[in-house]
Amino acid sequence: MSVERSICPDIYHPAVARDGLLTRLRIPGGVLNEFQCLAIAQLLESTGLEYLQVTNRANLQLRGLAQDLAPDLLTRLADCGLAAIDPAVDGIRNMMLSPTTGFDAQELIDVRPLAEAWYEYLTHHPELGVLSTKFSVGVDGGGTVGIIDRPNDITLLAVSDNGFSLHLGIGERGDAPVPVGVRLTLAECLPMLVAIAQSYRQGIELLGGDARRKPRLRDVVRHWGLTGFSEIVQRELAGSRRFIFKNLAPDRESYGENGDRHLGVHQQSQTGFYYLGIVLPLGRWTIDQIEGLGKIAARYGSGHIRLTPWQNIIVPDINERDLARVQELITDLGLVQTANHPSSLLRACAGATGCQFAATDTQADAIDLANYLAAKFSLDRPLNIHFSGCDKSCAQHDRADITLWGHQPNPEQSGSYRLSIAGLTAEAEQESSDILPPERVPIAIGQLIDTYHDHRLNPQESFRAFTSRQSLAQLQQILHAV
Ligand code: SF4
Repeated sequence: MSVERSICPDIYHPAVARDGLLTRLRIPGGVLNEFQCLAIAQLLESTGLEYLQVTNRANLQLRGLAQDLAPDLLTRLADCGLAAIDPAVDGIRNMMLSPTTGFDAQELIDVRPLAEAWYEYLTHHPELGVLSTKFSVGVDGGGTVGIIDRPNDITLLAVSDNGFSLHLGIGERGDAPVPVGVRLTLAECLPMLVAIAQSYRQGIELLGGDARRKPRLRDVVRHWGLTGFSEIVQRELAGSRRFIFKNLAPDRESYGENGDRHLGVHQQSQTGFYYLGIVLPLGRWTIDQIEGLGKIAARYGSGHIRLTPWQNIIVPDINERDLARVQELITDLGLVQTANHPSSLLRACAGATGCQFAATDTQADAIDLANYLAAKFSLDRPLNIHFSGCDKSCAQHDRADITLWGHQPNPEQSGSYRLSIAGLTAEAEQESSDILPPERVPIAIGQLIDTYHDHRLNPQESFRAFTSRQSLAQLQQILHAV
């Protein structure tokens, strides 16, 4: 098989990274069954890798491969639904669902059938293989754990028990999609997805671009204008009622913070059943843990697990009587189930081992920090910390409580971090851009947390609320006291 290198790989087309080949398994809807877990564990064993990573698109990523995956391995993955049968469309099997759809106690619509219908359509339309492999569709069932704030190209948000609001990712890179003033019934959703995808394909054919960098949906919409794009979509929808896209301001207040809502034990919509949200530090999932969670899902659940866009795992459908036992088994796998653990809301991009733009080894530095904090602190509230190897912020575009940006003024100097603390004004943040060598990061952040614990107004005051009460001078004093 000829291998075309891409900057956004799929399982048939790995990309070259600093640490070897990088490839991704697109998991439609983030749903895996016990047999797929077994196949993934076997895949890891055959490649000699110790772990893979759940990505912030709820897909799976393998880094540091010595060579392309063998054809028989690819066939096995396709046979169990972990790769497209047609390599042309593997890269666009990128559908993100609310990870609790089907059992979320607040959900308006179970969106899994829509995801299956979309995947079925993709499977039979290889012409859509020309779309960017970053093209992504999200469907949010309107429940407690939403994905409307995730940066998808298209998101359908359930707003009633038979109605969706259409959102398009036409802002800047990393922005959440915005509503375009279109309400759809459930029956209208698939035709609309098809019409947008086919219109996007026409735009790609017009604008060109090579296999490595294809225009994104937002580029096509900018080329035609939202009204012009809307007209082309309408032509694709021949015979349907009329829709006109308008760029509306998103109601960001309603998006909320979803990153930790799924962690821990939660009651399902089905009486007597629970789901467990489990933390994977930096999304890392080892062979033992993959096999172990697959077995737990088969023995105590419905045989399925869910990947989340926050790089974690959910095991659903656990009967109340088995909860304690399942929690024990998960702990035995070395996994935690609380948002208050230092690993829970830690994010890091590929960093120096995987990315040519990185000034620092973000993954190793993040693990060092998590280990330091876990040994020294017992957090009673979640703390969101983000390591980025440069200012592109691939791992997390939304604001963290603490963000560390890799910084290397010239190649002779080793990389260090600029530290940014949420709660400060943009101006103050600029001024507070302290430079920390990686080895000082754990102590400096530990000092910040110590001060927060000692001086917050009450145990309910968040880190962000606390820091917004501090002056810049006070925060700098804390950092320089170490
Ligand atoms: S944030 Fe920068 S260093 Fe990190 S993966 Fe993205 S481009 Fe590379």
